Amino acid sequence: MRADAIIIGAGQAGVPLAVRLARSGRKVLLVERALLGGTCINYGCTPTKTLVASARAAHVARSASRLGVHASAVRVDFPAIIARKDALVHQWRQGIAQRLAAAGDGLRVVSGHARFVGERQIEVDGDVHHSELIVVNVGARPAAPPIDGIGSVAWLDNRRIMELPRLPTHLVVLGGGYIGCEFAQMFRRFGSDVTIVQHGPHLLDREDPEVSEELEKAFRAEGIELHLGARAAQVSQEPGGRIVVALESGATITASHLLAAVGRRPNTDDLGCEASRIQLNANGFIEVDDRYRTSAPGVHAVGDVTGGPQFTHTSWDDHRILFDILQGHSTRGRAGRVIPYSVFTDPQVAGVGLNERNARTRGIQHEVARMPFGQVARAIEIDETVGIIKVLVDPTTERILGASLVGAEAGELVHVFATLMQAGASARAIVDAEFAHPTFAEGLQGAVMTLDRYALH
Ligand SMILES: Cc1cc2nc3c(=O)[nH]c(=O)nc-3n(C[C@H](O)[C@H](O)[C@H](O)COP(=O)(O)OP(=O)(O)OC[C@H]3O[C@@H](n4cnc5c(N)ncnc54)[C@H](O)[C@@H]3O)c2cc1C
Repeated sequence: MRADAIIIGAGQAGVPLAVRLARSGRKVLLVERALLGGTCINYGCTPTKTLVASARAAHVARSASRLGVHASAVRVDFPAIIARKDALVHQWRQGIAQRLAAAGDGLRVVSGHARFVGERQIEVDGDVHHSELIVVNVGARPAAPPIDGIGSVAWLDNRRIMELPRLPTHLVVLGGGYIGCEFAQMFRRFGSDVTIVQHGPHLLDREDPEVSEELEKAFRAEGIELHLGARAAQVSQEPGGRIVVALESGATITASHLLAAVGRRPNTDDLGCEASRIQLNANGFIEVDDRYRTSAPGVHAVGDVTGGPQFTHTSWDDHRILFDILQGHSTRGRAGRVIPYSVFTDPQVAGVGLNERNARTRGIQHEVARMPFGQVARAIEIDETVGIIKVLVDPTTERILGASLVGAEAGELVHVFATLMQAGASARAIVDAEFAHPTFAEGLQGAVMTLDRYALH
């Protein structure tokens, strides 16, 4: 078949791009080998945040006595929690199927694995399809941890752990990045013993250490065991099923389940990129320029497979930028975007732009405004005082260079800074604004006003 556009992967960029290109009058073929909606809807954001909500409910009920409310006998019904998650995922996937169907005859969805077989040519289940425009949105999948013995152990990844019929008695999590941290706290709150093995010195070790330390404090307070700066040397499984993780330090951890959250690899190894001369980097991600062009004429790539920040919102924004480029009215490329992120632990961790460590390493002049959550009225009133707000300001232009937040609703609050940065506004804008009291957002203003230049004398 010849199409005006072929999209490989019904992920966060592929679906909206397919719908909008079809609506613009093109004949579009969308190929998906697994489930509509890709990682985010099926094995990523949607299910994890649904489960995080149940875990938080259990935690709030158990700890309500600090607010003078006594909830007795909190019981976690794990199968019911999983069923709620499955229902929501199903509902969202159905929504995507309906959107695709509503795009009309111009859009054809094909189920199967796509592979390049030549320039601007792919093959799916024996059928060859051609197009002058091919967009690759194939995403990434969990990487197996490079540890001796891993092949002989029934380890879990982010997908398998959300399909467990029963709660693990003891879960060991390899990796203290955002996926590992979210699952660790969630399962601890469901009632499992949880141990994290993280080879960096801190959880979320791209953050400033003081941000990670706030999270570590909260995790330890909930009884999560942390092995920081530790490496798993070998894993094995006993005849009864128990998993033994031997650390390089000589310590061993014995657990019922093992979750590996040590990174993600791009889905390019079985895509036939060589047939179309699509250049990959050393880690297998597709190299693209500012306009999402790969080294193969007519072939673009978007989302996680480009190796950029691997977030749903980034993939979705990729589709927006690429659509404008393809329609011939583009005003921006992929570089230089303001990309916030959020980790849905309790306290949440969020950031945008530069953190203090990045600014120092890159020799960028900056001032740091800082305020502990413990000084924010709202945080004190609801007794969620763990955390810190850090804001980096350019001393010459007064523009905000970045913000790092750990604390209640950090994932919402970070957008105040993201929006100011997007607008190119001065930090004075937040100082002069009037914030409702008592809100967490008020704390953002308070933090910026700790800088001498904005302080009230
Ligand atoms: C546990 C977890 C939690 C996460 N939480 C968050 C979060 O809270 N917020 C956030 O922003 N991000 C989160 N992410 C990341 C987010 O899910 C991804 O960044 C996002 O889904 C990437 O979208 P994408 O469009 O690049 O690819 P994907 O959504 O992965 O879609 C790619 C699609 O391509 C298909 N495909 C692959 N190869 C082929 C082929 N050869 N032929 C046909 N089809 C193919 C795949 O089956 C898949 O459906 C999370 C990820 C995980 C794993």
